[in-house]
Amino acid sequence: MNTFTLDVVTPNGSVYSAKDVELVVLHTETGEMGVMAGHIPTVAALKTGYVKVNKASGTEYLAVSEGFVEVRTDKVTVLVQSAETAEDIDKERAINSKERAEERLHSNRDDVDYRRAERALGRAINRIEVAKFR
Ligand code: ATP
Repeated sequence: MNTFTLDVVTPNGSVYSAKDVELVVLHTETGEMGVMAGHIPTVAALKTGYVKVNKASGTEYLAVSEGFVEVRTDKVTVLVQSAETAEDIDKERAINSKERAEERLHSNRDDVDYRRAERALGRAINRIEVAKFR
């Protein structure tokens, strides 16, 4: 099967890189997107969600937050605010973050940035879900 290179990059640097990817599944603003070698070049905005990476050796998952994907014929670059492989997720931290965001959302306080709390909640729930794949 034809393969391509996948790089997952954040402001803190590279989080994941593989040269032998057969299929990657991503969550764009307009829906799920599967990319195989030879895909038409494109750029799409990504939602917080999981990235599924299929290789001949097996399947891996990453949790990513908002950003972009650039698809070229032989290379896919995921450029996001944060990314962790399932193995690198600190589940305790995600659970604490989820509780903090939920408290903020239910607090009825004027000084709470609700959209920010909602995004933080989304990241935490996503990490908890992706941590199940390890
Ligand atoms: P927290 O409230 O725990 O900081 P957050 O959603 O606000 O969570 P981010 O701003 O998305 O955190 O990420 C900041 C940095 O911390 C990034 O490098 C991200 O990869 C890392 N990170 C955040 N949460 C976790 C986690 N549960 N496990 C591993 N790394 C994490």
